[in-house]
Amino acid sequence: MNRFKISGGRVITGGADLGECTLLVEEGCIKGVEKGNVEAPDYETIDATGRYVMPGFIDIHTHGSGGHDFMDCSVEGCKVIAKEHAKHGTTLMFPTTMASDNEELFRFLDEYETLGETGGAAFGGLHLEGPYFAYAFRGAQDPKYLKNPSPKGYMPVLERCKDIKRWSIAPELPGALELGRELAKRGIVAAIAHTDALYDDVVKAHEAGYSLMTHFYSRMNGFTRRGAYKYAGCIEAAYLIDDISVELIGDGIHVPAPLLKLVRKNKDLSKIILCTDSMRGAGMPEGTKSVLGSLEKGQEVVIENGVAFLADRSCFAGSVCTTERMVKTMWQQGGATLPEAVVMATENPANIMGYGHCKGKIKAGYDADLVICSKELDVEQTFVKGVRVCHN
Ligand SMILES: [Zn+2]
Repeated sequence: MNRFKISGGRVITGGADLGECTLLVEEGCIKGVEKGNVEAPDYETIDATGRYVMPGFIDIHTHGSGGHDFMDCSVEGCKVIAKEHAKHGTTLMFPTTMASDNEELFRFLDEYETLGETGGAAFGGLHLEGPYFAYAFRGAQDPKYLKNPSPKGYMPVLERCKDIKRWSIAPELPGALELGRELAKRGIVAAIAHTDALYDDVVKAHEAGYSLMTHFYSRMNGFTRRGAYKYAGCIEAAYLIDDISVELIGDGIHVPAPLLKLVRKNKDLSKIILCTDSMRGAGMPEGTKSVLGSLEKGQEVVIENGVAFLADRSCFAGSVCTTERMVKTMWQQGGATLPEAVVMATENPANIMGYGHCKGKIKAGYDADLVICSKELDVEQTFVKGVRVCHN
């Protein structure tokens, strides 16, 4: 099926509902988008009547799903994760590591480069989460691996792997601004995460090249008091610095509805990105015990109330969210229209990760990464470069 048309569906892209359109797809690319039902006799027809057609979702922060985590370092596991995410509409994802030792990290980096086709969502490059985090804001990251950034630690990582696209770091740590500049020079997104930074630290970080807040509102300060004085924190900095993008875990739990609305109201639409931050338990039933991080060295978690907790319930341990759920949450609880919520899961993540020229929109010349879903946003079919990778 290298030539087909999708007709009858309402096309949602670019922040708008284009109404009923016909999409022509050829050789993995979108050839045309036209209003109404267009005759195209040489094209196989996919009928999307009564459904939405959207660009494939892009998840820039995910650790796993379907019982597997990227830190397991298994090729089979990576493919299961890619297929599971495709069932929920993801067509491009950025496998995310946890704070670990370099030995474990290298095992995954080396394996990633040998993966090839996934059979599900494509991999766009890697997101390293840690180990340069503030101890007090570590959340579920294992404290024994936390350290300050030093060229001796990060240069071997950057030199070993050409696929690193993003690194999440606490920018107030000694050496973190230098690392930010190194990442910016290499075209790698420097993100602010698990951090004790105050407003002034974020201003400096932004000047050094940091452009994104990892899981905004989680593991970072709002305004705080130190002695007699109050200080603006990371949260206020994200609202005051227009250029910084914020990533929201879109499960409605990590960031509850009023905060989603606050973000929608106060950040430019182009700067809001939805991510799952999903761990291996994504898509698994309530009450399931699971492990965050590697099976060998990770931490036990339990899935309850639509989220994963560390075993002692002291904090969330990554989400079990899937992509269509986050679009639905932002739309139904977060004060966004459906087209706006779709932009947050498609165009915006494509832009920040350097894929804005070919992914994230339904537009002639773009990759045919597409999702067909019901009016309730249940994913029915997912296409990656014109290949149907899921038919639920
Ligand atoms: Zn994460």
